[in-house]
Amino acid sequence: VGGGREGRLAAGACRAMPQGVLVVDHEGAVAYANPAVRGLLGLSPSDAPEGRALRELIDDEELLNAAKSAASRSGRASASLELQRGEPGSGGTRAVLRVGVRRVPKTEPPMAVIVAEDITQQRTAQEAREVFVSQAAHELRTPLTNIRLYAEGLLEEGALEAAERERAANVITSESRRLERIVNDMLSVSEMDSGSYVLRQDEIRTDQLFQSLEEEFAAQAKDRGITLAFDLPPKMPVIPGERDKLVLALHNLIGNALKYTPAGGTVTITVDAQPSHFSVAVADTGIGIPEADLNRVFERFFRVNDERVAAVTGTGLGLALAREVVRLHGGDIMAESEPGVGSTFTLTIPLLASRAAA
Ligand code: ADP
Repeated sequence: VGGGREGRLAAGACRAMPQGVLVVDHEGAVAYANPAVRGLLGLSPSDAPEGRALRELIDDEELLNAAKSAASRSGRASASLELQRGEPGSGGTRAVLRVGVRRVPKTEPPMAVIVAEDITQQRTAQEAREVFVSQAAHELRTPLTNIRLYAEGLLEEGALEAAERERAANVITSESRRLERIVNDMLSVSEMDSGSYVLRQDEIRTDQLFQSLEEEFAAQAKDRGITLAFDLPPKMPVIPGERDKLVLALHNLIGNALKYTPAGGTVTITVDAQPSHFSVAVADTGIGIPEADLNRVFERFFRVNDERVAAVTGTGLGLALAREVVRLHGGDIMAESEPGVGSTFTLTIPLLASRAAA
C-alpha cells in the first residue's frame, strides 16, 4: 500500500476490515497483512507476517498455487476457493474460510492480494437447514403416502364395504390433521430459526397467563384421569417477553406431561418467581425417558422409540420449539427423568438484564 493521503486511507481501511487481507509479491513473500488475517491464520498478534514466505504461513497447495499465478505475469489472475481449518472430530474447532485471490492491477513486478473471510457460522447454519429440510420431507412422506393409498382405495369403485370406506375417510382425515400439525410446527421452527427473529417485548402478566393455562388444561386432565395441580406463589410477577411464544412453550411442556402420563397419575406445575429469574417446573408421574435419550428429546423430530410414545400423536418438534422460544428469551429448558417414575421439565428465564435495562 503506497504513500500519500490515498495510501494512508487505504491502509486504514484495510486495518479496519473484518476480512483478512494479505498482499504477496512475485517471489511469494508477504508484503502486507492486515490485523484480521493474523487471527484467521492463527498467528499471535506479535508475530508479524510481513517479509515472511507465504508458504510458511499457509500449507494449502491450491491457495499457494493460486497466489503464485496471480502474482505472475502470465498465470491465472484470479481464483476463489474454500479452506477448511481444523480436522472435524479432532476436538478442535472447525473453521471454513472463503478465500479470494486477485492480481493487484498496475503492479510491476506483479503482486497478488488475498482476501479471506470466516464463513463457519453461515456454513453451520446452512448445514442445519439442509438437515431440517430433509428430515421434514421424510416426516411429511408417511402421512402423504397414507392419504394417497386410502384415497385410491376409495376411488376403486365397489371395492370397499361401507365400513371400510368409513375407515379410509377417517384415516385420510387424521393424516391430513397430522400434516397440518407438522407443517405448522415447521413454520414456527423456521420462523424463529432465521436468526433474525426479533422477540416482541410484551409485559406478560403471569397471574393471568397461568390462570388461562389452568382453565385450558383442566378438561384434558380430567378426561385422561390425571390430577393437574398448580403450585403458584402468592405474588405472580409481570415479566417481559413475547406472550404467544411463551404460551406455546408452556403448552408443549404441559401437553407432553399429560400425553406421556397414564391415567391415575399427577402433573404438577410449580412456579418459582425470583427477582433474578422466573422458572416453571412441569413434573409428571409418567412413563419417563431413558437416560440415553434425555438430551435428544430436544432434537427436531426426535421421539423416544417406545410403543407408548408411538401410540400418542406427536411431531417430535414440540420440545425443539419450546427450547428455541426460551433460548430467544435468554433462558433454557432442562430435563430430568427416571423411566417408570416420571419426568420434570424446568423452564427458566433470567430477569436481571432486562431489569437493569429498564
Ligand atoms: P412429540 O410431538 O413427540 O411429543 P416433543 O418434541 O414434544 O415431540 O417430545 C419429544 C419426545 O420426548 C417425545 O416423543 C417423547 O418420547 C419424549 N417426551 C417429551 N416429554 C415427555 C414427558 N413428559 N414424559 C415422557 N417422555 C416425554
